[in-house]
Amino acid sequence: MKHRLGTIAVFLLLVASGASARDHLRVNQLGYLSEDPKVARLLAYDDHAGRPFCVVRASDGATVLRGTVGPSSGEWGAFGYCHTLDFTRLRRSGWYRVVVGGTRSPSFAIAEPPYASIARTLLGFFAVQRCGETDPAGHRPCHLHDGRRIDGESDGVADLTGGWHDAGDYTKFLTSTACATHLLLLAEEIRPGLAGDHDGNGRSDLLDEARVGADWCLRLRHAPGGYTRQVQDSRDHRVGWRLPENDPLADDRPVFDGVGRNHLGRLAAALASAARAFAPSEPAWAESCRAAAEAAYAAADFAPPIFEGESYRDTAWLDKMALGAIELYRTTGKPSYLDDARRYADQAGPGGWFGWSNVNGLANALIAPDHRPSLGNLEKDLIAFRRQSENHPWGMAGKETWGTTVIVAGAAIEALLFERLTGRTDYTTMAFAQRDFLFGANPWGVCFVGGLGAIHPRDFHHQVAYLVDRGALSGAVAEGPAPPAVFEAQQIRLADEDEYAEFQSERGVYHDDRNDYVTNEPTLTANATAVLLMALLDARTPGVPAPAATANASRP
Ligand SMILES: [Zn+2]
Repeated sequence: MKHRLGTIAVFLLLVASGASARDHLRVNQLGYLSEDPKVARLLAYDDHAGRPFCVVRASDGATVLRGTVGPSSGEWGAFGYCHTLDFTRLRRSGWYRVVVGGTRSPSFAIAEPPYASIARTLLGFFAVQRCGETDPAGHRPCHLHDGRRIDGESDGVADLTGGWHDAGDYTKFLTSTACATHLLLLAEEIRPGLAGDHDGNGRSDLLDEARVGADWCLRLRHAPGGYTRQVQDSRDHRVGWRLPENDPLADDRPVFDGVGRNHLGRLAAALASAARAFAPSEPAWAESCRAAAEAAYAAADFAPPIFEGESYRDTAWLDKMALGAIELYRTTGKPSYLDDARRYADQAGPGGWFGWSNVNGLANALIAPDHRPSLGNLEKDLIAFRRQSENHPWGMAGKETWGTTVIVAGAAIEALLFERLTGRTDYTTMAFAQRDFLFGANPWGVCFVGGLGAIHPRDFHHQVAYLVDRGALSGAVAEGPAPPAVFEAQQIRLADEDEYAEFQSERGVYHDDRNDYVTNEPTLTANATAVLLMALLDARTPGVPAPAATANASRP
C-alpha cells in the first residue's frame, strides 16, 4: 500500500507540473541546422495545448528557450493528443533536450550540417549488399555462378555475377538495382563528393558504389533486345537464414528473362546517367554505358508496355520512359530524346507519391528546365504532399504503406528539387518535417537508420546483419511503419516481445523485429532514396559549392 501511495503521489506531482511520465517527446535525433525550422513532437494522454515547454542545455540543464505547446494535431493509438513544440528561434550550436513538465526528449544537436556523414553511413549498407567478386563488406564473395539459365526462357549463359542483393534476402532485380543506381548517381551529380573518397582511389566512394549497380545493369542484356529482369526467386526464402557465401542454392538460382517498357525506361535512365558520371574517370566504360542505355531505350519499341514479374510489379510505364528519355537527352544532347521526354511526361502527369514504382516526380523535375508543364506536374504533387502533411498528426506527407520511409523521403526530395528549380520555399517546411520523421520525430521515437541516433533499429530483417551482428546493421534504412492490415496479412510471428507496443495505432505499426519484413527490412531503394535526400539537404546549406557543369546536362 505504501508503494502504491508513493506512485500516486509521483503521478499527481507530474500532473501538476504539466506532463505525465507516460507522455513522450520526439525529436530529430540527428540534429538540426542553425537556420532550420525546428519542431519537437509530444505524444500525450492529456491535452497540453498552451502549456509551457522549455529547451535546456544537455550538459547542465540550464534553460535556453521557453515556448508554448501548440494545439493537438490529432490522436495516435492510445494517446489522445499529438502536439508540436516549435523551437525554431533557438539557433546557437550545442546539445539540448526539450522538456515538458516531467517529460524529456532524447538529447539532440544544433550543429554543422550532418548530411555528408549520414550519407557516408547510408552508403555502407550497399557494400554489405554487394554480390559476387565486388569486395563485399560483412561477408565473403558469393553467388559466383549467377547467369546459368536453369529455368529461364532462353538458352545460354550470361555472366550475371556482381551487383547487389535486393534487401534482407539474396535475390537480384533489374528494377531495384537500376532505381538505386540512378538515385545514387543523381545524388553525386547534385552534391559531388558528398560521401568522400575514403579509399583514396581518386574517385568519390559514392561513384565507386554506383559503379557496382551500373556494371550489373550492363550485364542484363544477353542478346539484341533480350534482357534479364531477375536472378533467383522465392525459393531463396525457403532454405533458412545463411550467409550468402554459404548459400545451398548457389547453383540453383534461376534467371528470368523478359522485360517491358517499365523495365527498359529505368534501365536506360540508370545507364545514361552512368555514362555521364564515369566519362571523366573511365571514358571507354562510360561509352559502353551510353551505348547500352540507347539500346535499352530503342528496345522499348518492341517490348510490351508493362511486363509483370513475380516481384516489383509496376502498374505504369510512361514515367519510366520519361525518365529514360530525359537522362538520355542530358547525356547525348539528341533533341529526339527531349521530344520524347516531354511527350511521355505530359502523358504520365504528376505522380501522387514517390517510389520505385512511381518516378513521375523525379522525371518531371529533370524535364522541367526544358518543359514548363513538368514543373506544374511537380507542383501538383507538392500541393498534395503539403496538404497530407498538414493533416497528418505526425506531419507525414503521405499515407502509411509498405515502404513508408521511401514515401516520406521522396516527398522531401520532390520539394527540394522544386526549390532548386524555382528558388521557392513553399514546400520546404514540409520537407523538413519528413526529414525529422525519418530521424526520430515519429510515434515510436526511432531514427529509422541503423547505427544513427539515440534509438534506432537493432534487429533488422536481414540475414547478414543477423548472422554477423545479431540484427544490427549500420546505415540500413528500415521500411518504417505500415498499416496494421498490411502487416497482419503476412501472418508474421514476431521473434521477440514488441518493445514498441505502446505506440502502435490503427494508422501504423512498426516492429524492430527480425521477422518483420514489412516494417523492418532494409532495401536498395530506401537506402538510395535516403542518400539522394542527404545530397539535396547538404547542397542547400551555406558554404557548399555548386556542382561543376556537366557537358549537355541541364541542371537537376
Ligand atoms: Zn550474392
